[in-house]
Amino acid sequence: MTSPTPANSHPKTPATTPEAAKASNFLRQIIESDLEKGTYASRRWAGSPGDAAHHAAGQSDPAKIRTRFPPEPNGYLHIGHAKSICLNFGLARDYGGVCHLRFDDTNPEKEDTEYVDSIIDAVNWLGFDWSQPGNDQPYQASDYFDFMYRAAEYLIEAGHAYVDEQTPEQMRVNRGDFGKPGVDSPYRNRTPADNLARFRQMRDGLYEDGAMVLRAKIDMGSPNINMRDPAIYRIRRATHHNTGDKWCLYPMYTFAHPIEDALEQITHSICTLEFEDQRPFYDWLMERLIEGGLLASPPPHQYEFARLNLTYVITSKRKLAQLVYDHRVSGWDDPRMPTIVGLRRRGYTPEALQLFAERIGVTKSDSWIDYATLEGCLRETLERSAHRGFAVLNPVKLVLTNWDEVFAPGHLEPCTQPALPHTPEGVESPVRHFAIGKEVWIEREDFEEVPPKGYKRLFPGNKVRLKGGYVIECTGANRDANGAITAVLASVVPDTKSGTPGSETVKVKAAISWVGVADGVNAEVRMYDRLFLDANPDAGGKDFLETLNPNSLKVITAIVEPSLANALPGQNFQFERHGYFVADRVDHVQGSKPVFNLAVGLRDSWGK
Ligand code: ATP
Ligand code: MG
Repeated sequence: MTSPTPANSHPKTPATTPEAAKASNFLRQIIESDLEKGTYASRRWAGSPGDAAHHAAGQSDPAKIRTRFPPEPNGYLHIGHAKSICLNFGLARDYGGVCHLRFDDTNPEKEDTEYVDSIIDAVNWLGFDWSQPGNDQPYQASDYFDFMYRAAEYLIEAGHAYVDEQTPEQMRVNRGDFGKPGVDSPYRNRTPADNLARFRQMRDGLYEDGAMVLRAKIDMGSPNINMRDPAIYRIRRATHHNTGDKWCLYPMYTFAHPIEDALEQITHSICTLEFEDQRPFYDWLMERLIEGGLLASPPPHQYEFARLNLTYVITSKRKLAQLVYDHRVSGWDDPRMPTIVGLRRRGYTPEALQLFAERIGVTKSDSWIDYATLEGCLRETLERSAHRGFAVLNPVKLVLTNWDEVFAPGHLEPCTQPALPHTPEGVESPVRHFAIGKEVWIEREDFEEVPPKGYKRLFPGNKVRLKGGYVIECTGANRDANGAITAVLASVVPDTKSGTPGSETVKVKAAISWVGVADGVNAEVRMYDRLFLDANPDAGGKDFLETLNPNSLKVITAIVEPSLANALPGQNFQFERHGYFVADRVDHVQGSKPVFNLAVGLRDSWGK
């Protein structure tokens, strides 16, 4: 999915916008304190991930901190991941560090290169970069399988791990529960030599999948169930996309993840709250492997923050996949999807998502963020950058009945308007060009035969300005046999063209947007709304498919001014008075087939 870079697109690594700057949070405080105390000042970095000896031979680490974003390449990234990306890359950027992009591909079955590519694309598009001197490739956890195996053998030799042949059911029962301590496995006290021999047989394929596991030997009476001898290796005959059939045993996530962090010299390993109970094991494993001289000291430390929950949005990869496979949406990049590709196609910009991440901040307790907060960030960033344009979404023809006499039959008068009306001092706005003639399109709602109280637009006898054009005076309307309006009638007031001397002498109370019949272009406009009607679509065991909004997409034909028809795919606009729209990245064809998506209205009108 590539498209030309729109004229008003954004530089690759944007600085944070001024108001987005650096609200403090608990993670910033921890990092600042670590920097002050020099917690990680003695670390060395060999230029690539590796064990203690590898890094000892390297230089003093030029990166003051190291964070990481470790997605499992098993689906498209969503708005929750965007929060994590902005957080981890943002902290590294702000504190002279590096953030690693690491594919957590230790689970052989679910990964796909389609997802790898889309993740690389998403991180880049959000404005972040993981490259560092001598290395611009993302890391992959599966490259560390050899080390992980060695670490497991070390734990066995040191008496910290054993092969358990209990059935999964026996293991579950003997693990106990919150109120009940676990029971030692009958295999727990085998000798290290015996365990090592069996573990090597596991590796060599002598046993069936699931016949036994390697467990860390910690404490079956621990109040933390995660410390009751967690499994760290299992037998699984599966072809891995990176290592092929080299392995028939694979590390468990809880064992693999701390090791990945340590080999990469991560300092602050930031994850979501559900991993809090895993932290004691993380620390235990780090201590054991540092004791054994396998890993460099000081080890990384894990910190947890609350995951993003956004109202009206689902952020489970599995449920998002269901929407795609059930054809409830057009694909992962459907503009109603909370995926990064979907948000991008909807008109979201990297600036808007960065601002959102900064604004919601990081906390240690779960909460729901209002969807309006996300929309507000988009509006705020597009207000500065999106070119303006006229589009008539519900058109009716306006005929200027005296045009031929005032000008000449067929005359078209060129008009201009600024594309960016609020540029800073000394910065000139680009200019839009279009023409006015005898017939123009206006919004149907801009004419009322009998005006309601306070109505300032077109009704017989009232004058308004056609924005950027002339003042006109309404004289009436033509109707068909059913009474439906076929054309609004008005006369043009001579010498009132916008921007010409004396044009302001005729006072009007309203200026309306319009598009010339001569140069207006038909455009497909996709009016998107929220995908779900329920603010918490999948909370409390609800079937999220039942709360789908049946009106989340309405397709209309609008008439747009020439500058909009010439948009580049992916270019954002403000359709004056209507909202922010984006030329669809997939279906819009510059100049010949304009297709726009509604990104967000001008103000928050949901539920009002
Ligand atoms: P899902 O549960 O939707 O499959 P996941 O957490 O399994 O998502 P990963 O690929 O493991 O997906 O996530 C990569 C990183 O993104 C993790 O560090 C995780 O903490 C973070 N992340 C995922 N979802 C959210 C969220 N909603 N808010 C904040 N961070 C998130
Ligand atoms: Mg995960």
